[in-house]
Amino acid sequence: MLTQGMLSESSGSVTGAGALLSILRDGQARTRAELVQLTGLARSTVSQRLDALLSHQWIVPADDAISSGGRPATAFTFNRGARVVAAADLGATHARVAVTDLASTVLAERRVDLPIDRGPEEVLGWLVVTLKELLVETGGSLCGVGVGLPGPVSHSSGRPVNPPIMPGWDGFPVPDWLGSRLGAPVLVDNDVNIMALGEHWAARRDVEHLVFVKIGTGIGCGIISERRLHRGAQGAAGDIGHIRVTTSDEVVCRCGNSGCLEAVASGAAIANQLDAAGVEAHGSRDVVNLVRQGNTMAVQFARQAGREIGDVLASIVNFFNPSVIVIGGDMAEAGEHILAGVREVIYSRSLPLATQHLSIRATELGDRAGIIGAAVMVIEHVLSPEAVDLVVSS
Ligand SMILES: [Zn+2]
Repeated sequence: MLTQGMLSESSGSVTGAGALLSILRDGQARTRAELVQLTGLARSTVSQRLDALLSHQWIVPADDAISSGGRPATAFTFNRGARVVAAADLGATHARVAVTDLASTVLAERRVDLPIDRGPEEVLGWLVVTLKELLVETGGSLCGVGVGLPGPVSHSSGRPVNPPIMPGWDGFPVPDWLGSRLGAPVLVDNDVNIMALGEHWAARRDVEHLVFVKIGTGIGCGIISERRLHRGAQGAAGDIGHIRVTTSDEVVCRCGNSGCLEAVASGAAIANQLDAAGVEAHGSRDVVNLVRQGNTMAVQFARQAGREIGDVLASIVNFFNPSVIVIGGDMAEAGEHILAGVREVIYSRSLPLATQHLSIRATELGDRAGIIGAAVMVIEHVLSPEAVDLVVSS
């Protein structure tokens, strides 16, 4: 802070341009006069900061000049095309990558079946090659790479930590490995955190407290508290898949414990239950297809899984008091049956005050929540007022 203050006094510098950019990022064109009024800054200071943002192409003059009395006043608007962002959502069995603009609009995208257990060099190698192809298609200057992984990630280092379904990935330096090959900063988080970020940013930005539950091969949740992602001390917040559900003590989970939520209610668990009952199913995709075809047993199992998940979420609701719970992940495509089970238990088990205005719904972004969230993670980092100030003052 001291450095910034000294800078602005000694050189009349442009620090604070980042705050101005934050205002313009809402997409509305604004004139100098409007910005003076909004910020309370001197007109000369606003002009100086606008010049700095213009020279980095983060803003552009708006097409329509706004008339203010005599001469027309130029308005400025956020330039969402100033840079491009690379985003990757790596799941247990498939991967999706995209290049977006600075408003997280997807410009080019690929999706392939790619098991994460092939190991970091093969999976990330594919990612590098594919992103380079996409960047040729879109053009533009890459400002950062966001990656979601299907396991616990240490937030400070961006490295996976003992990920149960990712052999070979434990401690792998994903940011360095990708950064040296793509020439841009790399941010890594677990897949459900980026999904929560994407859903909140793109579809529910006004919601203060939100829980995003991913139900797929595993189960986890991402927590938005006061409009920010809550990661916890080590980045492990929201790992509800290994909360023990009392009804099913005999089922052993892949984490080694027994009776975990994930072991009884994930897509993989429902597939196992169907298999044991004589209905062939190999994973969440098969379960979703069976539910959609109206297979009675699959529908029953999906609904029961919804109840088990609702049981854990009822405690979360009492503890955290979110106003929205969003259900996403592969199994969300089994739609109303899962949601019905979740709703049934939450509304009967949580306290009335906590459920009074609680809404429980399916994801609006569908299977794109992760990719949008990975882009948002990078955009919020690159366009944070501090980061922008640093760039324009260097
Ligand atoms: Zn477990």
